[in-house]
Amino acid sequence: MRRAYSATPRPRGGAGRPEPEQLGFEGMPERLFVCTPSKLGSYEDCPRRYRYSYVDRPTPPKGPPWAHNSLGASVHTALRNWFALPAERRLPEALPTLLKGTWVREGYRDEAQERAAYRRALEWLESYVETLDPAVEPLGVERVVAVKTSVLAFNGRADRIDSRSGPDGPELAIVDYKTGRTGLDSDDARGSQALALYAFAAERVFRRPCRRVELHHLPSGTVAAHEHTPESLARQVSRAEDTARDIVAAERAVAEGGDPDEAFPTTPGPICTWCDFRRSCPAGAEAPTKDPWAAVDRVLTPAAGDA
Ligand code: SF4
Repeated sequence: MRRAYSATPRPRGGAGRPEPEQLGFEGMPERLFVCTPSKLGSYEDCPRRYRYSYVDRPTPPKGPPWAHNSLGASVHTALRNWFALPAERRLPEALPTLLKGTWVREGYRDEAQERAAYRRALEWLESYVETLDPAVEPLGVERVVAVKTSVLAFNGRADRIDSRSGPDGPELAIVDYKTGRTGLDSDDARGSQALALYAFAAERVFRRPCRRVELHHLPSGTVAAHEHTPESLARQVSRAEDTARDIVAAERAVAEGGDPDEAFPTTPGPICTWCDFRRSCPAGAEAPTKDPWAAVDRVLTPAAGDA
């Protein structure tokens, strides 16, 4: 039987160098790489950021919390709690209490901005729940799905898993809420590795076809959707497995005495501006600085005013 393998090695005597944990011997089965979508995505975005998040211990200091993360978390939790209500109490009047109860206050410029963000989030939620049938129960809300391949032990928490009628019977759809300013299109849904992995896992967990993935963008009230095929899901899984192999190779290189900076190179770019570790990263120093509330400012600014 395969054993699960966490790619996060134990630190050896500080200095952030990972212990060569349970290195395989010839003839032993490969260990599975335990991962979530954010773990894989972190490495794909920037190997150095992955190292700061999952390898170096103690974890390098992070910057202050971002207001846009607070806003997103507040809306996500309010929607989770909406579905936790009995169907007859899923009324728009319930939303202010739900949102207040889940509101995360960190990162805003001041109370005026926070209040404006709260009002905007409430508007999004009111518009969004109008599109929902309170009597329809999702199959899962913030539901963890897990699956193993020959390389991965994947687990992830899907915002929502819907059961819907398809031409050949019941089928599942993965729903992911988005609260950023920019609208999304079907290419975003098609290209999302996280959504594809959720679909792949949900299909196996629930033993029902799950090919449809949807990004529900609350600020614009739009849905960006994609219908996967077994082949396109397999391609995303294969890509995730390639990433996992790269991570294991990098961690092994460090465990065997290699230079951690070489094994986990920086990939500077626009993401550095929003990276939690930019203060610890030599490449991050070059990136333009943004206030923790800058992205929320953009969300609250009418689109026409944005260059
Ligand atoms: S600041 Fe940029 S290069 Fe450095 S870890 Fe973050 S994303 Fe990577």
